[in-house]
Amino acid sequence: MKSLKDAIEQKGLIISDEVLKVDSFLNHQIDCPLVMEMADEFYEHFKDKKITKIVTIESSGVAPSFATACRFGVPMVFIKKAQPSTMQDPVSCQVFSFTKNKYYPICMERQYLSEEDNVLFIDDFLANGEAFKAAENLIKECGANISGVGIVIEKAFQKGHKYIVDAGYDFCALASIASIKDKKITWAK
Ligand code: 5GP
Repeated sequence: MKSLKDAIEQKGLIISDEVLKVDSFLNHQIDCPLVMEMADEFYEHFKDKKITKIVTIESSGVAPSFATACRFGVPMVFIKKAQPSTMQDPVSCQVFSFTKNKYYPICMERQYLSEEDNVLFIDDFLANGEAFKAAENLIKECGANISGVGIVIEKAFQKGHKYIVDAGYDFCALASIASIKDKKITWAK
């Protein structure tokens, strides 16, 4: 997605050879028209998959997921990082955080996914795939089917890409980074 790659090149900050900061348009302040365009791209890719729910993990996946859910006309479920006392029948597991370098719990109310659901999982970044694997656990525990994985920015040189492709999921990354070296991004596509 050219406009996304332009935004990354013009506004992104390369923190290291493995970490990119996109707080000015995706992770803190949000460029809403750009996020709407992301939703259009995800819709084009997954429109024949009979998607019934969009699922993400809070908080950075929420904006692109919300926009995509609006585009599909389906509900969006965001997996939570803290379990509220009001949660009645949670499914939960631990995730290893790429950015925080520690485990944290995630949970969701079981009733929001069922055997009838075809889920499109969406997230802001794909690195080693730990967030996706944890979400995959919860989605499967609810009995739902994962019909696609949509990632805004993937770093294809880390482990997550291979895991998702090898597992046979329909996968779409809007910007795919082959490598980051000496503060320069090389695009995979
Ligand atoms: P993974 O679980 O695939 O290892 O990492 C994905 C999660 O870590 C994403 O949900 C995102 O929040 C965070 N993340 C991974 N890589 C980056 C990065 O380069 N920059 C930022 N800002 N977040 C990242």
